Amino acid sequence: MERMEAVLQNLRASGGRITHARRAVLQALVTARTHVTAEDLLNIVQTGSPEIHLSTVYRTLDALENLGVVDHVHLGHGRAVYHLTDNAHQHIVCEKCSYVEEIPSKLFNELEKNLMDTYQFKVRMNHFAVIGTCQRCLKKLEEPKHA
Ligand SMILES: [Zn+2]
Ligand SMILES: [Zn+2]
Ligand SMILES: [Zn+2]
Repeated sequence: MERMEAVLQNLRASGGRITHARRAVLQALVTARTHVTAEDLLNIVQTGSPEIHLSTVYRTLDALENLGVVDHVHLGHGRAVYHLTDNAHQHIVCEKCSYVEEIPSKLFNELEKNLMDTYQFKVRMNHFAVIGTCQRCLKKLEEPKHA
């Protein structure tokens, strides 16, 4: 699996050891292909490694975050979800239907620069999603209402 190899290489490059639990959690993140909670990851991990428990998943996620290989993000009011850091992106989330889309981080370059220039504030945009209304829900709102 190509992406898995690349992710393990990143881990080695960051000075991280490749343990069984780390490999299992990273493999689960690659397999999930989407944003998953620690509990979701546990379910995937346990199909191959039933001896790994939730506390280990949390500890492993923490270690992988510190190594910069994994990151968590808050998409809304729910639990934090995890993703790999190998393709930097930002999230837009529809507050009406919970639709999530990944958008390029560079769209926020100007905002980041302005906040730094004006307020000397180094913003970390991708920690939280940008909340709004998606195209489909906007369309629904525009439709004339029939009594
Ligand atoms: Zn957080
Ligand atoms: Zn993401
Ligand atoms: Zn929507």
